[in-house]
Amino acid sequence: MSLFRQLYDENSSTFTYLIADDDTHEALIIDPVLSQHHRDLNLINELGLKLRYILETHIHADHVTGAAELRQNTGAQIVLGSSTGVHCADKLINDGESITVGNETLIAMATPGHTRGCTSYLWQDRVFTGDTLLIGSCGRTDFQQGDAGQLYDSLQRLMALPGETLVYPAHDYSGRRVSSIAQEQNLNPKIADHDRTAFIDLMESQSLPYPKHIDVALPANEACGKAA
Ligand code: FE
Repeated sequence: MSLFRQLYDENSSTFTYLIADDDTHEALIIDPVLSQHHRDLNLINELGLKLRYILETHIHADHVTGAAELRQNTGAQIVLGSSTGVHCADKLINDGESITVGNETLIAMATPGHTRGCTSYLWQDRVFTGDTLLIGSCGRTDFQQGDAGQLYDSLQRLMALPGETLVYPAHDYSGRRVSSIAQEQNLNPKIADHDRTAFIDLMESQSLPYPKHIDVALPANEACGKAA
C-alpha cells in the first residue's frame, strides 16, 4: 500500500507532496518549503516514515526550499533535474530515470521551459508538474533561462499522458488542489487553441511583475536552501 499527502504553504501558495510505501515505511517528499520544516518533519515522524529522497520540481523563485534542512535532519538525498546544474544535489536526475521508495517508483520527465531544469514526476495515476503545468495556467518563461518554445513542447508531452492522469502542480493561487490532463486539455486557456507560434507569442506578450522573493530565493535555492 502507498501513502500520499498533499500539504500547502499559504504564504507562497506552494504544494508539498509526501509519498511513502506503507510496507517499508520509506518515503520521499516533493518541493518542501523551509518555513514549513517543522510541519513536514513532525508529519514524517508521526507517520513513522524514513525519508529517503527530497525531490525538487525546479529551482524555485518564490520561496526557499526546505531541502537542505530536511537532508540534515533525516539523511535523505536531494534530487533535482540534471539541467539545473546545481552542485548541492545528491542526485541530478535525467529524463526517464526513476526514484524508488519501497515498492513505489516515480519516473522523471524533463519538462523544461518555465526554467531550464524543470522536471515533472510521474507516479501511479498522477503527475507532479511543478510550475510547468498549473491548473488552468502554466509557469512564466521570462527568467531562469525560461523558454516559451521549450515550455510548449513540454506541455505537449504532458498532454499526451492518459486523460485521467491527475495533475498535482507546485502552486495554486485560487484554492484548487488537483486537476487532470483531460481537464487541462479542454479548459486550460494557455493550451487550448494555441499552436506553438501562438503560444510563444502569448508567453512573450505577458508583462508580469518582478517576483517579490526572487533575489533571496534563487541564490538560496541554488544551494538547496542552505543559508548562504
Ligand atoms: Fe517556479
